[in-house]
Amino acid sequence: MEVACLDLEGVLVPEIWIGVAERTGIAALRATTRDVPDYDELMRQRLFHLDQNGLGIADIQAVIETLDPLPGALSFLDWLRERFQVVILSDTFYEFATPLMRRLNWPTLFCNHLDVDVGGKIVNYRLRQADQKRQAVKALRALNFRTIAAGDSYNDTNMMAAADAGIFFRPPSAIAQKFPQFPIAQTYEEMREAFRHASSRSIG
Ligand SMILES: [Mg+2]
Repeated sequence: MEVACLDLEGVLVPEIWIGVAERTGIAALRATTRDVPDYDELMRQRLFHLDQNGLGIADIQAVIETLDPLPGALSFLDWLRERFQVVILSDTFYEFATPLMRRLNWPTLFCNHLDVDVGGKIVNYRLRQADQKRQAVKALRALNFRTIAAGDSYNDTNMMAAADAGIFFRPPSAIAQKFPQFPIAQTYEEMREAFRHASSRSIG
């Protein structure tokens, strides 16, 4: 059997922090791993800016409730789930992702947790393990699953390299140029074709 490992933000849903930045007007929250590759530094900045603006978990969840999956994402995911076991590997947090998972019909999601105090302030974040996307792919392969991993950015390249096959979805050109070994899909139809090509089976 084959497992499709998908990044979440930029592949199925918009960048959550950019959505939060736009709806709260806090421009500093627009930064993503595309801008600050050091994830810990990025998260410290984000929590600092939320605190400075008095925003707690409920405010952020209300904003995320207004975000929709990317156009075509749900039908692509349904197509994929009929043909592969699908696991979403994301650097986001369960506390953020839940409204979006509901819109995607609750696919399996491996991500991280936030620490929230009794007043609703986000005080810290907890990564389940370092380099978790790559570790998940490695573990699935150790269970004798063939793996195909798809993502859009730098933080996906480790899992894509660890998988049996990797696919870029709409990557920034600077990142794509650094990893010319991965095919690039710009649309969900191209993603379907890339998964058909990467599969060891003949799939419709
Ligand atoms: Mg992404």
